[in-house]
Amino acid sequence: MAEYITHEHDVLIIGAGGAGLRAAVEASAAGVTAAVISKSLLGKAHTVMAEGGVAAAMGNVDDRDNWRVHFSDTMRGGQYLNMQRDFGGHRYARLAHVGDRTGLEMIRTLQDHGIHLGLDVFMEHTVVTLLKDGERIAGAFGYDRERGRFHLFRAKAVVLATGGIGRAYKITSNSWEYTGDGHALAYDAGAALMDMEFVQFHPTGMIWPPSVRGILVTEGVRGEGGVLRNKDGERFMFKDIPPLYVNQTASSEEEGWRYTQGDKNARRPPELLTRDHVARCIMREVKAGRGSPHGGVFSLPTLT
Ligand SMILES: Cc1cc2nc3c(=O)[nH]c(=O)nc-3n(C[C@H](O)[C@H](O)[C@H](O)COP(=O)(O)OP(=O)(O)OC[C@H]3O[C@@H](n4cnc5c(N)ncnc54)[C@H](O)[C@@H]3O)c2cc1C
Repeated sequence: MAEYITHEHDVLIIGAGGAGLRAAVEASAAGVTAAVISKSLLGKAHTVMAEGGVAAAMGNVDDRDNWRVHFSDTMRGGQYLNMQRDFGGHRYARLAHVGDRTGLEMIRTLQDHGIHLGLDVFMEHTVVTLLKDGERIAGAFGYDRERGRFHLFRAKAVVLATGGIGRAYKITSNSWEYTGDGHALAYDAGAALMDMEFVQFHPTGMIWPPSVRGILVTEGVRGEGGVLRNKDGERFMFKDIPPLYVNQTASSEEEGWRYTQGDKNARRPPELLTRDHVARCIMREVKAGRGSPHGGVFSLPTLT
């Protein structure tokens, strides 16, 4: 008996989150054979946890919004070094969502469509290395969790969609799957990795008590009037507003509150500045000894 099981497809997609499934749907629709591999069960990828929503400048909530403003917010949020999207940092309300189950609906729709198109799915399989034929990627090798059998996947094209690296951090909202495998697979196969320091942190999550450690506190809390305070009760976000954002940021707590209550003449509170900035301000308070007893700051649901 062979020591491994061999599978052959035109396109092999490693990762069954929104990115991987979308790639798989596209490949299948183009008429080639496609397979998706996932460390966990289909439908369990992190995409399912995206409860807040997806940013889209549709102009239906605020008619001043459009893709140009969205683009400008995105570039500004990345200090003009980026091509990525921010959640905090949006000038107008822009989140498209399906209740608090946006990711769930996305992933369910994608997987239903993919299965309908005839995708092959390998759940609870972990890829440990990419295979090369000369300088070309020719497949992947891994094992299944159920029986520990080895699997060799041959493919004409391999797509890496393995999600994030959250598990590199002591406190994280990320599940066991997110150990940066895609980065490692690519690196081991000879890819040059760039901008590795560009990790975006969602600034707020629970740190205490241990039973809730790592649970995300959505930006929606701050979007609806929640504020951040240090151990002295000070609303420290007002202390450091980057020059690029001064004109768009409330100059008083009262103005910030009005913004969160829908007043279009008010500017947004500093708690809604970009994620990198909010995260840095929190860290500064903690390092200066003004944090909470367990190493964070206080997130209060209202102005008071
Ligand atoms: C708690 C939480 C809330 C969030 N809320 C929002 C939100 O409201 N809005 C928003 O836009 N974003 C949100 N995000 C971020 C968003 O969920 C992710 O950016 C997005 O889902 C990433 O999708 P993806 O397809 O790249 O990866 P994932 O959905 O993370 O999927 C990665 C896939 O790769 C597989 N994989 C990894 N390594 C291997 C391997 N070695 N072998 C085989 N398979 C492997 C995994 O099993 C998984 O199937 C949130 C994230 C978290 C953690």
